[in-house]
Amino acid sequence: MTDQQPWQWDERTWRGHVDRVRAGRSLRPASWPGGARVAVALSFDSDHETIPLKDGETRPGRLSQGEYGSRVGAPRMLRLLERYGVPASFFMPAVSALLHPGEVRDYVAAGHEVAMHGWIHERNMRLAPAEERELALRAADTLERLSGTRPVGIRTPSWDFSDHTLAITRELGLRYDSSLMADDEPYELLADGEPTGVVEIPVEWIRDDAPYLTMDRDGASRPYTPPRQAAAIWRDEFDEAYREGGLFQLTLHPHIIGHRSRMAALRELLQHIDAHEGVWYATHAGIAAYVWEHA
Ligand SMILES: [Zn+2]
Repeated sequence: MTDQQPWQWDERTWRGHVDRVRAGRSLRPASWPGGARVAVALSFDSDHETIPLKDGETRPGRLSQGEYGSRVGAPRMLRLLERYGVPASFFMPAVSALLHPGEVRDYVAAGHEVAMHGWIHERNMRLAPAEERELALRAADTLERLSGTRPVGIRTPSWDFSDHTLAITRELGLRYDSSLMADDEPYELLADGEPTGVVEIPVEWIRDDAPYLTMDRDGASRPYTPPRQAAAIWRDEFDEAYREGGLFQLTLHPHIIGHRSRMAALRELLQHIDAHEGVWYATHAGIAAYVWEHA
């Protein structure tokens, strides 16, 4: 079977692949808390040094780009969020949390959520199932120890979701995942067609700073979008979510968006959002809990 080409698969085979992890019922609620018009869920993946480390890249120069995220980017995020009174979710690889335990404490002290983002930003698709499971369990224990709270959600590093990720998520008793892209609104994940009770808070590369602003010195990746243009795309995403009465979810990285010229664009986006009536700001955990009760 394994050496069969996709066009040789029988219907059971291609349906099986599609059904392994799929979107179930929509969890879009009839209304948001307090009659809010839109829900806004901001997230920051505090990867820092794990971006080079995950590839075995240990050069001080590359690591310093990640260090910037913790030393400069994360404090800027905290100040910006405090100014607007906005709670957010910080997805943190366990190694990043171990490198920056004070940062984890700062997130918690400011009322933000700390959630799972792998051990060292490993790519789940490259791991044996037992390896992926062991790293996830160790990461959950590490975040619990450093943050004081057992994490309730996961974002797989690079949104790399293997055939075994959902089973591990369920074993850990997590309430939500935020790595998949089947909708703009929250939905329940199905495993082989069966409801799992796991809420998906969907992401999209469109609502992520990395594709617009990342540069790889040795590769072909170059920023081609000015920060304010990226923010204009996110503003349109928010405006449409507002028009539809839905969810606006955004994924940012302190080591990417935390630079000065980009902070200007992010601040303008928050000003735009905050000028609207009926905005409900929530963590991903808050969104997951609410939609599960009210969908
Ligand atoms: Zn990441």
